[in-house]
Amino acid sequence: MEYQTLNNGVRMPLVGFGTFMLGGETCAAAVAQAIRAGYRMVDTAEAYGNEAAVGEGIRQSGVDRKELFLVTKVNFTSYEDAGQAVACSLAALGTDYVDLLLLHWPFANRYAAWRELEKAYAQGKARAIGVSNFEPDQLLDLIAYNGVAPAVNQVETNLYCQRVDDRAWMDKKGVAHMAYAPLGQGNRAQMFDEPAVRALAEKYEKTPAQVMLRYLTQKGATVIPRSVQPAHIQENLDIFDFSLTHAELATLADLDKHEPLIGKPEDPEFVEFSLTW
Ligand code: NAD
Repeated sequence: MEYQTLNNGVRMPLVGFGTFMLGGETCAAAVAQAIRAGYRMVDTAEAYGNEAAVGEGIRQSGVDRKELFLVTKVNFTSYEDAGQAVACSLAALGTDYVDLLLLHWPFANRYAAWRELEKAYAQGKARAIGVSNFEPDQLLDLIAYNGVAPAVNQVETNLYCQRVDDRAWMDKKGVAHMAYAPLGQGNRAQMFDEPAVRALAEKYEKTPAQVMLRYLTQKGATVIPRSVQPAHIQENLDIFDFSLTHAELATLADLDKHEPLIGKPEDPEFVEFSLTW
């Protein structure tokens, strides 16, 4: 495993296991399988409704919780009472701290919620705090008017949505980049079939998924791919035994379409949709 060091000195693995859309037994089994395969980071969220199943998967894995890097997020519908939401997440996960606690979306009263996250951090309930889906202006605003700067911004990032401009601001402000939907949620089959990706997969005897995950990690982003298939779970972790050359990185950079799959916060239809969660 490779790591990146957050702005408070905490080390975060460069690959983690995503759990969006997973629940119950399936979720617990996939988390246990991933941890046994070697993953040391698991990403969940209040909004996924699966924190108890993630906690169960951790216990089933037999690996000491202290060896793991656990990430959860407060849903924006809980921002007025984020302290209580954090307490519920910790109870569901069966732990007294998480390694990274995020605000899930820049909606609702995010300032009140951020101050509750700062308190949770001060009380040792989170080793680091951060945000998700924050655009650069929202990130800069939060940093300018609060005591603790976010350690991480978790944003959709994949071959077709590389976030180069967002990343420049994150780097400038010392905010680590965590790439969600790094495989395009499985809805972008064309990414896997890009001739450049296929050629690199052949050259390095890797799969297209491994090439894309290696690309993002070589660019300094942490990736959190999701799968319930044992072969894919293993494959998505085995990406550190090859490196793309400078020219190959440039070729993949050219494939950016600047197109997120998931709605932007300023999109009114997306806000409408999110309120129905
Ligand atoms: P993803 O990009 O990880 O894609 C998952 C899909 O890719 C699944 O359908 C899976 O079957 C397929 N897949 C996985 N490994 C593969 C492989 N090796 N080869 C071929 N297909 C493969 O999508 P995701 O789950 O949406 O994103 C990853 C994680 O990011 C989530 O599980 C969640 O933890 C997090 N996330 C966060 C937010 C947010 O708002 N912060 C939003 C979405 C996802």
